[in-house]
Amino acid sequence: MHWADVEANALLEKGKTHLINTGITPSGTLHVGTLREAITAEAVRKALAKKEANVRMIYLVDSWDPLRKRYPFLPESFEAEVGRPLAYIPCPCGEHKSYAQHYIQPFLDSIKELGIHCDVLWTHEQYEQGKFAEVIDTAITKKDLVMQILKEVSGRDVPKNFYPYTPRCENCGRLTQAKVEGYEFPYVSYTCACGYSGKADIRKADGKMPWRVEWAAKWKVFGVTCEPFGKDHAAAGGSYDTGVRLAKEVFGIDPPHPIPYEFVQLKGKGQMHKSTGSTVTGVDALRITPASVMNYIILRVNPNRHIDYDAGLGILDMVDEYDRVENMYYCGGCEERDKDLLRAYELSQPEGPRSKLPLQVPYRHLVSLVQITDGFEGVLSVLRRMGAVDDSVSPEDMGILKQRVDCVRYWLDSFAPDEVKFAVCKTMPACELTEQEKQFLRDLLVAIEGVEWKGEKIHDAMYGCAKAATIGARGGFQTLYRIFCDQRQGPRLGFFLSTLDRDFVLRRIREGAQ
Ligand SMILES: [Zn+2]
Ligand SMILES: [Zn+2]
Repeated sequence: MHWADVEANALLEKGKTHLINTGITPSGTLHVGTLREAITAEAVRKALAKKEANVRMIYLVDSWDPLRKRYPFLPESFEAEVGRPLAYIPCPCGEHKSYAQHYIQPFLDSIKELGIHCDVLWTHEQYEQGKFAEVIDTAITKKDLVMQILKEVSGRDVPKNFYPYTPRCENCGRLTQAKVEGYEFPYVSYTCACGYSGKADIRKADGKMPWRVEWAAKWKVFGVTCEPFGKDHAAAGGSYDTGVRLAKEVFGIDPPHPIPYEFVQLKGKGQMHKSTGSTVTGVDALRITPASVMNYIILRVNPNRHIDYDAGLGILDMVDEYDRVENMYYCGGCEERDKDLLRAYELSQPEGPRSKLPLQVPYRHLVSLVQITDGFEGVLSVLRRMGAVDDSVSPEDMGILKQRVDCVRYWLDSFAPDEVKFAVCKTMPACELTEQEKQFLRDLLVAIEGVEWKGEKIHDAMYGCAKAATIGARGGFQTLYRIFCDQRQGPRLGFFLSTLDRDFVLRRIREGAQ
């Protein structure tokens, strides 16, 4: 059984109504791994919905967290913002409402594409609306118990001046510097390191709970029954363990069903963006990986196993595997051990599976096509000529193709290694060919002139010729790369030549043979 169904069954044993909580602190550019949480949660949501549970998923943007430090990617002026909540710090580019929105917006933009069904909530708004007032009051009233739990679970002493609520200084705007002087509902009085003394109203966005306490408090406020989180929180004595005791003993609720997940590691060469110089981000991953493939990469393995994400050549294999499983899903031929992959495929479809096999044009073929044509129309006209696409293609299929072409183009511009790049020379490049090389081209001309203009057919004819030639298969291929692309390597030749106009190919070989 697929792991999402296993989790759904475990949840159904506890009840029919569920709330899955996910979220992130938008303090910087999103890592590929952050996509795992939302995609994992969505799979469990879908699995529960299929079993007719009453399920809702929320995505909490932790916009009320303070900026911890001035990160290296921030300008010097942000030094003054350290300690202030991310929702109240200006956006670094000037086009978003806040710092928090600047970093979370690319993810919010991709939610629909990935097919994630969630309500996005901003933590700062929850504080502003007083949603946390009651739990803050509880935490303050039971302050000694909170401290005792934190100490017992973590095995470390809790600072004497610990308080389960930190006022936000009315004068300097920081959430980190105030010393609490006393509490009388709904006011917490404080003195800030900046010298200001004031009162924070717990019914407003005047302060914040420390995050370990806040985590359990959110479970209570929203009624969370299930939550995926990074495995670092799941360590013994870690924040989930603390949360469990705070939930039961302070807030009087059952803790949510945990789904700890492993990290997504970047692997292979080519993890550096060619123009920005930074390693592949979550946004990059979504721009080079079609959404359903991204979902599949995450869902095909159990959350407790780590995932290697390779933005270099690895992307080609990832999409190939997706296409292979897609083919099995619609056309059969699946073995017992592949059953979970089919379910992963099904859960990966943003709009659910289709009624028949969608149009499949391999990503690696598009890598060639995008480089020999102009724009999407150019790709389409070659695919039409090759018979891969005709007028019966549905708008949905056209959408899939368009998305793939966009991904391939972004990949070529940002992460693709040089070895997959080439350009077709419009006229014969200046290359000196030896007599043996010319002889190979003459033989090839005879061999492929009558051949059906299909990748495999061309490949077979070409391979036969090159093997028999004195220059060998390798020498033969190199000769072709030289006369077509003016380089010594390039795309898979059979398919590549089949995408070019037949007369053009024959003319060029004839020219080279002279
Ligand atoms: Zn911005
Ligand atoms: Zn202050």
